[in-house]
Amino acid sequence: MKTRSLLFLLVLLAGVFVSAAMKPNSTPPAAKDALECAPGEISACGLPSNVVIDLSKAKVQRTEAQWRARLTAMQYRVAREQGTEPPFRNEYWDSKADGVYFCVGCDTPLFDSRHKFDSGTGWPSFWQPLEKAFLGEERDVGFGMIRIESHCVKCGSHLGHVFEDGPRPTGLRYCINSASLKFKLRADYDKWVAQGGAAN
Ligand SMILES: [Zn+2]
Repeated sequence: MKTRSLLFLLVLLAGVFVSAAMKPNSTPPAAKDALECAPGEISACGLPSNVVIDLSKAKVQRTEAQWRARLTAMQYRVAREQGTEPPFRNEYWDSKADGVYFCVGCDTPLFDSRHKFDSGTGWPSFWQPLEKAFLGEERDVGFGMIRIESHCVKCGSHLGHVFEDGPRPTGLRYCINSASLKFKLRADYDKWVAQGGAAN
């Protein structure tokens, strides 16, 4: 009798555990901003963009085959499909080289290394773009967050997101994917400017 009631209790307890484990988690984990995240943690910056950019308005038009021929798989995923590359494992996050970052899709100069700062996020971060007119912005409400998506106006390539927790003087943080950028050293940039800034 004693064994039987003990067995009954065990079955009852197991049932409680199973039902607790199967209960759906109704509150999704809040996505933290990248600055609050440890490396590898999911951040606002690390989530792909949910914005669908109207590419028909972009001035540079390429066919899918042309885009794929021009870009690596990662560049295509990020710039053309609004993806996100991994933090700390991308080309420019830690780069201190003096020069200018161009759009990978159309060779428009977008960011200057003089405006780059170490945000601790693992992505190249700038407190201002070279020319604000070269960047388009969209409200991105994916993943339960409101973020400002940033893209190149000339070719529509997705760049990253803009946050309002950057350093002075702008207080902005352009959190940009390396995969969307192509770096030119200052001397090469000056040469490019002297030649009239022809697209490659
Ligand atoms: Zn572009």
